[in-house]
Formats: sequence, C-alpha cells, structure tokens
Amino acid sequence: DFGRIADDQGLKVFAVGGFVRDLLLGEPNLDLDIVVEGDGIAFAEAFSREQTCRVRSHEKFGTAVIVFPDGFKVDVASTRVEYYLEPAALPTVETASLKLDLYRRDFTINTLAIVLNSARFGELLDYFGGLRDLREKAIRVLHNLSFVEDPTRVFRAVRFEQRLGFTIGKQTEHLIRSAVRMGFLDRIGGPRLLNEIIHILEEPRPYPAIARLEELELIKFVHPALDIAGDTDEILERAMRALNWYELLYTGQPCHGWMVYFLCLIRDLDEDAVNGICERLAIPARHRPLFTEQRRLAQGVLQRLQAFARRKLKRPQNSEIHRWLLPLDTEVLLYLMARLENEEARSWISLFVTRLRDQKTLLSGDDLKSLGVPPGPRYREILDELLQAQLDGKVATREQELEFVAR
Ligand code: ATP
Repeated sequence: DFGRIADDQGLKVFAVGGFVRDLLLGEPNLDLDIVVEGDGIAFAEAFSREQTCRVRSHEKFGTAVIVFPDGFKVDVASTRVEYYLEPAALPTVETASLKLDLYRRDFTINTLAIVLNSARFGELLDYFGGLRDLREKAIRVLHNLSFVEDPTRVFRAVRFEQRLGFTIGKQTEHLIRSAVRMGFLDRIGGPRLLNEIIHILEEPRPYPAIARLEELELIKFVHPALDIAGDTDEILERAMRALNWYELLYTGQPCHGWMVYFLCLIRDLDEDAVNGICERLAIPARHRPLFTEQRRLAQGVLQRLQAFARRKLKRPQNSEIHRWLLPLDTEVLLYLMARLENEEARSWISLFVTRLRDQKTLLSGDDLKSLGVPPGPRYREILDELLQAQLDGKVATREQELEFVAR
C-alpha cells in the first residue's frame, strides 16, 4: 500500500538500505527503511489515516516511524528538502535527490533502492555498483573520504563483513588502515564508539569480528591495554554458548549479551585500565557497577570455583554456591560460565540459575510469628538458615521445616 498512497500523494517512494540488501541476499530483515522524495512526514501521516498504525514524527530530521500493531516498524526518511525545492527540471531533480541521499550512505551494498510506486513497482535502482558488490561479496565505501567523514564506519565495515561473510575491498581496507594511522578514529565520541562496540558484541557470533578488529589495529584504539591474545577465542565462544543457553531458558529476565562479552574482553585488566575504558566509552553510570564492584566480586568467586574444580573430590554445597552467586547479576554469572574451563564447575552455575536462585523456604515470617518467635532481626537469620538447610537437602517438607525451627 505504500506505493498506492504515494501515488495518491504524488510522491515517489523507495525501499532502501539494509532491507533491500537483505532481500537480495535472502536474509531475513524486519526493519523496512523507506525514502520519500519530498515530505516524508506528510506521507507517513497520510498513510496512517488509511491504515491501522501509529506514527511518530521527528520534524527536525524530516523523519517518521510507522509502527504497526504487530510491532513491525517502518522508518520513513525524506530526501533533502533543498533539493526538491530547487527550480530545476523536475524529473531529473527528483532522481537526483534520491541519489544524493544514497550517496551519503556507508557502503555500496547499502545503496540499493527499490521503487514502491505502482507504475514501476519492484524496479531496482543501483547507482553505485551495489549489486556488483553483493555478487562479489565485497564491502566497499562510495568514496575515499568516507571514513574521514564518519570514522564509525570502520566498525560498521567489520560488522557487515563478518556478519555477511563478505570481505572488505582492497581499497576500502587501505582507507581503514590510513584512517587508523592518521588518528581519525580519536574523533569518535564515547557514546558513538560504545554504540558500535555494542552492535558488534550483539551479533550472533562476535569473536570473528573482534579478531578482525584486532587485525586492523582497532582494538588497541579502543584502549591501549585491551588485548585479545591468549585464550580470548575460547572464552568468547563459551560466552556465546552460555548466552544461547540462557536465552533458551526463557526466564523473562533480560540479559545484556554485550556486557557478558565485554567482561570477557577486560578480564585481565587492572581497575585503572577498566575505569579508563569506561570513561573512553562513556559507559552510563547505571552500568558502571557491573564493571567495577560486580567484576571484583566475580574474580573472587571465580578463584573459589576454580579451586573447588581442581580438588575434584568434594564439590561445594548448594548453600555455598547459593551464597557466592546470589549477589551477582545474570551477566556476571554468564561471564563466570565463560571463564570456567571445567564443565562441572559450569554446571554449578547453571544449577544456580535454573533452580537454586529462586528457591524459597516454605515457612514465612508469619509462620514464625504463630510459632511464638519474638519478632526482630532473628527472623531473617532463621529463614536464612532454613533456606540453607533446604538448599542442602536437609529439609524438604513443611513439617521438616517446622521441626528445624523448633530445634
Ligand atoms: P542492521 O541489520 O544492522 O540494522 P542496516 O543496514 O539496516 O543493518 P542500520 O544501522 O539500521 O543498518 O542503518 C540503516 C541504513 O542507514 C544503512 O543501510 C546505511 O546505509 C545507513 N547508515 C547507517 N549508519 C551509517 C553511517 N554511519 N554512515 C552512513 N550511512 C549509514
């Protein structure tokens, strides 16, 4: 219906960017980006008058988001206004404005457009060799100043390369290396740099992209102390398996995958270096405790678990596992799973997440009251002891709990 409504409005509308790229590659993509030659906001509003959907507009940028009841989203952008207002010959001006919009994009494979208007519906527009690069599986910028214009594109290049199984073109790689050498990347602000790192760490399999960043000397650039030598590959692969496992549990408790990987990447750094990285990446204050206090706790727990795993004979009691792991966020628990080479030690953490974490005593404070225990801090202590006994299998029924308290 985009095409018909655009026809009615006398506008030209195109599907562009990642959506078209993934369509041609046969990859799923749930974000549709469309470009309207003219006023995109007016178009989105006309669309919402005819269809069941909501529209959020950003006047300043001439963009709008159409949200359908099932959550499907369409981003609507307008081509540059000054262009279509220009009193030049109309038909060519209109294509020029789409072309100009596409020219500002990062890579040729993201510059393909598909006409949505009815008369030419489905026609592919390829102004910058995007189709050739899709066939050649190449990530190429549109011009030599691309990385100078926006240095975050170096991270995007690596992300697309690794995700799609493509290769960064020779000239493009050369431009990346020059941008790194000439220090252009220092100009990336903390929040934008963090955003790129998060995107990379939220790919289904981040390790290959991290290795590629290292090869392009981009890891050192994030912070000089960062280094992916040693067993980083194994640790990140275990982190990925832990995250996939956690996702399949459907606990309903969200977990930030990127934080798990990030904890793995900074595992050997001292606190000064970690603080330096948090500053450089402008990590928001609410996330900092994870990389400071929580990380510190985790290192202590890790040593204990490793010591137990080495001793083989005796495993920790459930109540001990519970006591050590309870203060830790889910991200930290998954990080510990990534750090533990010993499978049995990893199983203690999975046991905690699946069973021990939510275990509760059958008796409550009210029960203690009816048993005549005088109210006070003693309640907490009794219930804690009771929980420990239950975790270790010493009490299982209400009767046994009552007996335990009586004792
Ligand atoms: P993803 O599947 O990761 O969402 P995408 O291609 O849709 O891939 P977005 O980050 O959503 O990527 O960006 C949408 C479009 O905007 C891209 O296709 C790209 O052409 C353009 N774009 C995004 N960031 C930049 C940038 N830094 N420089 C130039 N163009 C960009």
